[in-house]
Amino acid sequence: MVVSESFNKYFCGALFILCLAPGLRHPVYAGEDNQNQKNTVICQDINKLLLSLDLNAPGLEKVKSSVDDPVLAAKELLAYYRARDFVRHPVDRRSKQDMSGKCASRQDISEAENAMKHIFIGQSAYPPHFCGEDINWNTRPVPDMEWVWQLNRMGFWQSMSLAYWHTNDEKYAKEWSCQFVDWTKKNPRDNEHGYAWRSIEAGIRGHGWTFLFQRFLDAPSFTPEVLVAFLNCCHEHAAYLMTKYSKGSNWGLMEAEGLAFIAITFPEFQDSKKWRDEAILRLNTEINNQVYSDGHQRELAMGYHTGCIGWFTHSLELAKMNGQKDAFPDSYLKTVEKVCEIPLKLGFPDGTTPQFGDSWTGTPGHIWGSLRNWAQLYNRDDFLYVATQGKEGSKPDVTAFALEKSGFYSMRSGWDRNSICLVLKCGPDGGGHCQPDNGTFELYAGGRHLMPDAGSYIYSGDPKNRAWFRQTKVHQTLTLDGKNSAYSPKLLLWKPGTDLDVLVVENASYQSLTHRRAVLFVDKKYFVIIDEAIGDGTGAVDIHFQLGPGKAVFDNKNFSVRTDTPGGWNVLVQSMKQKGMDLKEEEGQVSFLYTKKEPRPAFSYGLQKNTKEHGTRFVTIVAPYEESQPKMKIRLIGKPKIGASHMELEIVADGISKRIKYDL
Ligand code: CA
Repeated sequence: MVVSESFNKYFCGALFILCLAPGLRHPVYAGEDNQNQKNTVICQDINKLLLSLDLNAPGLEKVKSSVDDPVLAAKELLAYYRARDFVRHPVDRRSKQDMSGKCASRQDISEAENAMKHIFIGQSAYPPHFCGEDINWNTRPVPDMEWVWQLNRMGFWQSMSLAYWHTNDEKYAKEWSCQFVDWTKKNPRDNEHGYAWRSIEAGIRGHGWTFLFQRFLDAPSFTPEVLVAFLNCCHEHAAYLMTKYSKGSNWGLMEAEGLAFIAITFPEFQDSKKWRDEAILRLNTEINNQVYSDGHQRELAMGYHTGCIGWFTHSLELAKMNGQKDAFPDSYLKTVEKVCEIPLKLGFPDGTTPQFGDSWTGTPGHIWGSLRNWAQLYNRDDFLYVATQGKEGSKPDVTAFALEKSGFYSMRSGWDRNSICLVLKCGPDGGGHCQPDNGTFELYAGGRHLMPDAGSYIYSGDPKNRAWFRQTKVHQTLTLDGKNSAYSPKLLLWKPGTDLDVLVVENASYQSLTHRRAVLFVDKKYFVIIDEAIGDGTGAVDIHFQLGPGKAVFDNKNFSVRTDTPGGWNVLVQSMKQKGMDLKEEEGQVSFLYTKKEPRPAFSYGLQKNTKEHGTRFVTIVAPYEESQPKMKIRLIGKPKIGASHMELEIVADGISKRIKYDL
């Protein structure tokens, strides 16, 4: 690209350059020489950078003594950084040779090759897109704003840097240098360029760019000009991030991470210590703000939860490797360990995780790699056991977990891949990534996601579908007149046991109606769910269920629905017959990938609640099974009032009778 070549020439002919501020420009040169104008800008950039550095720092003596010759100062500064060895970073420049042929995946190389041709990835669910010979960083190939926002995270630059180390081919460094300078020139931080300057992207760049610096610094294409543009832009990012603090959200963590990485990687800035202290203060504050005492991050979406493990950890590790361990108290690490326990407690036996809120269940085993790392980091045999599917480590002590503050509960029959596992959510409002779904659950058994959450499908550009996936009634819970519910959870009973796990939760879903749900896991085989609508509210009361994609068999006479997937496990849902109850098919959709969705069976049991006094209760069996459909019958003992504290049932499962009960 033209820009970079002109700079290379410029540095070769440095002796002939005049550095004059625009107002002082000699009349002979004014308006007649583009090269000189460029050179003036370059000198301004260098001077700006020099003013932001602590030139009294050890090692910068030559830079300091060259301030009157900005071009020389920039060269000296580059020499300083190439020789600097006291700053440690996860990317160790000394390992470059060892990484040759080892550090880029096929995917990285393919992304890097595309990036060489300006074919970039924005939001990765969409195809990569050509952004112009002269790159337009505001390219919008789809209505979804995530595309252009994520384009400006430039994840493909990481691929280029990995491809560079992998192949040692200078072409990647040369092209990246051009693209980098191009981006900084075309994206000043002003209103017009808001698409590039959301604080989340600034934080992500601040973190990621330090990795690029480590990988490209020694490249011949990393000229003094690139260094100046790079450091000025890092300074801009850190100064901006100091003014942006999204308390209580994952954004706040990425903002702090960007700030910490710039500050610790570049202690030469006069403001670095201030930035570092602020970043560390924020992380220490946010770990208390954002993590409930049960270990779950407050947004209640697993993707962000596991993301925050990284965001809480990276800065700590960077500080540690730079001898600044004391910045984070031991309690911080203890909390992070607790955060790491959540995927074990709520994860499915195939190594996937629930997709409540804006989350994706992921590919099988996706959580195992992380659990293995955490096992080592925290010396946890239970993490290792789950990470290795029982080959190493030791089995977790229990099979049922209650996270009362965040409102997640899990019950499982065991830890092998075929185990039955139900995860229920009934928590506080987690903000924008959380859905009004209290009472809902996901069911997994025999290697199948028999009743998965619908997921979230899309963030931006398609408000109709975004809203559809958020609705209470597309979750496995109770609604009044199909309306969205409020977040007002309460745990009434948690009593795990050998042959019966009992969970009773309530959610004041509507002003006039509270949903009480009891889930009983019987003999670690099947579930009985008792739903009660308690309160004055009247209208259509429905409980909704959704199955995995595939065929479903409806038996309206017996109020049962079952999946009918050959060759393995299925699930039977059957609600106790009662007068006036109907079984209706509903629209069902599920999304396992961003922008991808597919139909799936969904249905509801409904009762009309006509009077304030008239109560509503559903008693439903949810039975996963491997071979033939179980024959289930259920009966309530006595005539408990709606909201009664004593509940007793008789269940006949395949001819075997059993009594179960709970007392609140
Ligand atoms: Ca959902």
